[in-house]
Amino acid sequence: MINSKGFMQWGGKRYHSLNYHLRGKFGQKVFKIPLDAGLTCPNRDGTLSIGGCAFCSLRGSGDFAGDRSKNLEGQFAQVKTIMHRKWAQGKYIAYYQAFTNTYAPVERLQYLYHLALQHPGVVGLAVATRPDCLPDEVMDLLEEINHKTYLWVELGLQTIHETTSQAMNMHYCFNDFQDALNKLRARNIETCTHIILGLPGESIEDMKQTGRKIAQMDIQGLKIHLLHLMQGTPLEEIYKKNPFAFLEADEYVELVIDLLEMLPPQVVIHRLTGDSPRNLLIGPTWSLNKWEILNRIDQRLVERDTWQGRDAEEPYSYF
Ligand code: SF4
Repeated sequence: MINSKGFMQWGGKRYHSLNYHLRGKFGQKVFKIPLDAGLTCPNRDGTLSIGGCAFCSLRGSGDFAGDRSKNLEGQFAQVKTIMHRKWAQGKYIAYYQAFTNTYAPVERLQYLYHLALQHPGVVGLAVATRPDCLPDEVMDLLEEINHKTYLWVELGLQTIHETTSQAMNMHYCFNDFQDALNKLRARNIETCTHIILGLPGESIEDMKQTGRKIAQMDIQGLKIHLLHLMQGTPLEEIYKKNPFAFLEADEYVELVIDLLEMLPPQVVIHRLTGDSPRNLLIGPTWSLNKWEILNRIDQRLVERDTWQGRDAEEPYSYF
């Protein structure tokens, strides 16, 4: 919506939040139920590597997903109880978050996806994966699911810079991401791209280049993560040998806003910063004040009198 000042606002925000998007689509509060399906990742099981991406936690970047030792019903119940303390009413997006959720025989994936959709109150499915794990039979399954329910696929990109992806032991690169995105969009499947700000060796300009590049691509959603250095990750070892600087809070806030300005207004912002379990976080410790950072972003958007899409390259379509 364009207000009288000529800029866009989404439910009082100056960026197109996931909350706003889901309320508009379903007419009520919808929250995600992060799940751990008990899968693994080719970058951990020895297919590509055993170390995993340097920044990936022991829980496969699913630190707030349901407890892996519980079955999916148990995980649903656990996460719903926590969510409903905050919101009495609401529907759910089942969110396969931990590890690589397209990396299993297609029959198993079919079972898992349908199981989640059968849960009362579930109105959609989100599937997080790496771009090199989308073979044709999995694409076919996702296309079938996409015809039945609201689906998006979360693709880890993290950076467009190959030097960084190699240093972070990711074993995929920007070309893999482009290829996966093209295939998903050819099937009309929505996507949400993950990027990380603050990766070691990257300058602010490098990070902006990642933002600029994805702003020109056919993405429907974006998750911006702050790099967290967590105990037990390969990155901890890298840091011990060669300590690198963390982004400062103010630097992060300004950078996030620079990226928002580049992004077309229809791109849904799933996240503007990240969480990390307090007991595992080495740095930056300011990131523990997540709400303070989000409030600071809102405040700086007003002070800079700017908004998502201000500098986006047209043409783009509204909603
Ligand atoms: S692809 Fe994802 S799950 Fe696999 S190691 Fe990297 S961050 Fe972890």
